Amino acid sequence: MLTLDTSIREIGRIGAVTAKFFNNLDIETIEDLLFYFPFRYDDFSSSLKIDRLIPGTNANITGSIELIQNKKSFRRKMSITEALISDETGTVKAVWFNQPYLIKNLKEGDKVSLAGKIEEDYTGAFFSSPVYERLSGGQENRAVHTQGLVPYYSLTQKITQKQVRFVMNQIIHLSKKINDWLPEQIKKENKLIDLSEAIAKIHFPKNKIDIDQAKRRLAFEELFMLQLQAQTMKKEFSGLQAPKIRFFEKETRELVGSLAFKLTDAQKKAAWEILRDIDKEKPMMRLLEGDVGSGKTIVATLALLNVALNEKKAVLMVPTEILAKQHFFNLCKLLEKFDLKIGLVTRSEKNISSKNNGNKKNLTSDFVLQNSDMIIGTHALIQEKIEFNDLALAIIDEQHRFGVEQRKVLVEKAGDMSPHLLSMTATPIPRSLALAIYGDLDLSIINQMPAGRKKIMTKIVTEDKRQAAYDFIKKEISNGRQVFVICPLIDISDKLGTKSVKEEFEKLDKIIFPDLKIGILHGKMKAAEKEKTMQEFLDNKIKILVSTSVIEVGVDVPNATIMMIEGSERFGLAALHQFRGRVGRSGYQSYCFLLTESSAPQSLKRLQALVDYDDGFALAKIDLKMRGPGEVYGQLQKGFPELKIASLFDYQLMKEAKNAAEKIFEEDDSLNDWPELKKKLGEWERNIHLE
Ligand code: ADP
Ligand code: MG
Repeated sequence: MLTLDTSIREIGRIGAVTAKFFNNLDIETIEDLLFYFPFRYDDFSSSLKIDRLIPGTNANITGSIELIQNKKSFRRKMSITEALISDETGTVKAVWFNQPYLIKNLKEGDKVSLAGKIEEDYTGAFFSSPVYERLSGGQENRAVHTQGLVPYYSLTQKITQKQVRFVMNQIIHLSKKINDWLPEQIKKENKLIDLSEAIAKIHFPKNKIDIDQAKRRLAFEELFMLQLQAQTMKKEFSGLQAPKIRFFEKETRELVGSLAFKLTDAQKKAAWEILRDIDKEKPMMRLLEGDVGSGKTIVATLALLNVALNEKKAVLMVPTEILAKQHFFNLCKLLEKFDLKIGLVTRSEKNISSKNNGNKKNLTSDFVLQNSDMIIGTHALIQEKIEFNDLALAIIDEQHRFGVEQRKVLVEKAGDMSPHLLSMTATPIPRSLALAIYGDLDLSIINQMPAGRKKIMTKIVTEDKRQAAYDFIKKEISNGRQVFVICPLIDISDKLGTKSVKEEFEKLDKIIFPDLKIGILHGKMKAAEKEKTMQEFLDNKIKILVSTSVIEVGVDVPNATIMMIEGSERFGLAALHQFRGRVGRSGYQSYCFLLTESSAPQSLKRLQALVDYDDGFALAKIDLKMRGPGEVYGQLQKGFPELKIASLFDYQLMKEAKNAAEKIFEEDDSLNDWPELKKKLGEWERNIHLE
């Protein structure tokens, strides 16, 4: 007998090969399959009689096959299958191209259901390559491909929609066995249907109301889970104490005064919010949000300085070695006159730099942590089993690159006391998400760019304009500026036309700009090589840096004014916006060239959005619209919870989920009275952890 735990291999008509393809989608059991949701539906709910068909529309009919035969078109060597289908009102022709095997599946006299586009030629209206299915009575054989709301799943190429629907239809009755873990009370208060009902309806809805009900239920539980976790964290935190960091006004002013620029009002406000927060015994939980290039680093630096002056430790964790090195270098310079020991911990480097003792290299992580006033590092900080003593402030740069769990680890490392926590990101996180991640996270927003910045001119560059782009680059370089060239791949690929850094580097170095120094940068290079290259680029020795997406976030080379992105259609909007943010970091006019050979309307639309909009929030909204909710943060931002159904922009539902979670915690702050919820939350967190 089939149960939820049964392997999909046991389902009738799933062979080893098909099972393997399902496995590739992380579907092992019947339960996994039931929880594999469609992402859209085709609406064939208006079934028509044949005499009502209108050319130019989509329609569904049922009828019987009068005649079916293969023909050869004589002009093109194409096989055409033609069928005549009739119901009590009339007859219509259906045509398929190059599927001669159809006549083996469909026989005269078969009752069929067809769905697809109605076209018209001199013979009248006909179905052009409709989806078809044979109807032979019985529930198992109801039409699932051509009638009503037909589900579409995101699939790999090896499995067809028809296969999935067919299998799903065989097992959908098992959804009744799914245990609902949501307490009745919550369901009632929030008008949610049962989980098993929601699963049945999400796959085979009878109407739009079914879809809405199912989605509401499934989205609610995702958001509710986030909220439960947030509330748990909040409870954990609220009992903790953090070290109070006294504000050193004179020194802070001194640092601000030493900068080559004036802080923007938004930077001042954010800095003030942070400094005020850390001057309390309650741990700060704050998110600093500011578009690429808005100047978050200096704000963080003011906090780092104050912690050090309080003789407490702070760490700054960043997602890449290049960025760690850059921050390290900048902080050493910025804080030079304060005589601090600044540590660096990455996989390949463990250094301490201080004014009096110079630069000490090749230390152990432990040594760096014990002996520095502040430490800049990558994941290496949390991967190695090192203890942070008296950590007073943890700053996470580009926080969306880290998982919730990783953030937790960093904070947990602090022992009994909790450090203050500051996350920084350029991703415009809606307030609802901020709330979801930490319960009551405070938000500081830098909504203003430094004065004197010019709008980056963004252009889509087609192949025929490539030479013009190179000419332009040449001119910019002769004016002293520098250039980034981004390629999607490292090595030359067999995929025709996809640019690789190695290939482009060779081309630019040998053929296009033989007299200029070109650099290359990618993830497979040794840390020391990467660093040398970055340094030479910073020193304006390298004029053009050909790189993969390793420089996507954070990298700051103000003298670079051109960002040229090869195969730009292969990157997401958020990534493109980040790349573009590498230039326009000075008073010079900067440019972003989006190279593409694609003519797919969807791709061009996406690139055009980048031309039209320069602020991250607008782009995030457009991205959301183009991809559909759930995917944006799931796909692009590893650190964000992966939501299958819910949208983080759904403020209303988020609020309801938050209220429900708060209610649970009002009565009980450990979930001990809610074993089901506790178990579910545990499983959910473990899943996140595994990613
Ligand atoms: P992000 O917010 O993307 O992390 P950074 O902190 O790297 O931005 O700052 C981008 C660049 O702008 C750096 O070169 C920095 O020195 C400079 N910068 C920061 N604040 C200002 C300001 N108020 N005026 C002018 N330049 C600034
Ligand atoms: Mg930054």
